[in-house]
Amino acid sequence: MRKKYLVANWKMFKTPRQAREDFLTLARGNVQASSQTVDCAVAAPTLYLSELALLARSSPLKLLAQNCHWASEGAFTGEIAAPMLKETDVRGSLVGHSERRQHFGETDETAGRRVGALLRAGLEAILCVGETLEERKAGKVEEVLTRQLTVAMAASGLRHRFEVEGANAQSPLLALAYEPVWAIGTGQAATPVEAREAHGCLRRVAARLLGAEFAERLRILYGGSVNPQNVASFVSEADVDGALVGGASLAPESFEALRASCAR
Ligand code: PEP
Repeated sequence: MRKKYLVANWKMFKTPRQAREDFLTLARGNVQASSQTVDCAVAAPTLYLSELALLARSSPLKLLAQNCHWASEGAFTGEIAAPMLKETDVRGSLVGHSERRQHFGETDETAGRRVGALLRAGLEAILCVGETLEERKAGKVEEVLTRQLTVAMAASGLRHRFEVEGANAQSPLLALAYEPVWAIGTGQAATPVEAREAHGCLRRVAARLLGAEFAERLRILYGGSVNPQNVASFVSEADVDGALVGGASLAPESFEALRASCAR
């Protein structure tokens, strides 16, 4: 049985003060009460990570970054490395978000290398994949998802299943987020059936690449215009293990409503 996982993506929103106040509100809220049934995390802007890591210390609310470089250090202006996150007590990072792919040239290969760096540092990686509208209309959803995951896993340099499992066999360090590009920030979510089919495809590919047992424990989150009204329809689908939420995760009350629905 996979534990549900709710991840807020704060993107490039919130002033330092809002970030501090909102993170505290969530960390002191009901995340503790539902921590047996749902893991909760916030992926915050880089600048805020050090401060928020202190607030996350005594809370089950996990703090994540939104990106992480593949090198452990080096001349990469503007980037952050996995060992830096580790020493700051950040638990992991999103990787390969479609906004990174669209605006900053992220590819399946670079996303995979970032996954490798995180997992080698003992941090969690949430690899985002998903098709464009054109690819969906052309009937290429499975082909695209298969390519994205296969190339990323090859580029990660991780050769053995135990490398993606980490110490906690219940919740492997690697998670996937199926985020159809056309559904992100558009208000036009996928249907639960579309999500189920895509998640099923990803789990089959993961089983081929990493073994059936690992794939069975792999958490696959749905992302794309999730809100408190529709989240239950996604997380009640067999292969949907939680949600990655942008816009509707920004207000603490809205995050709390999402959490309550996932915990049910
Ligand atoms: C996201 O940022 O990953 C996302 C899914 O955004 P939204 O929930 O706003 O569509």
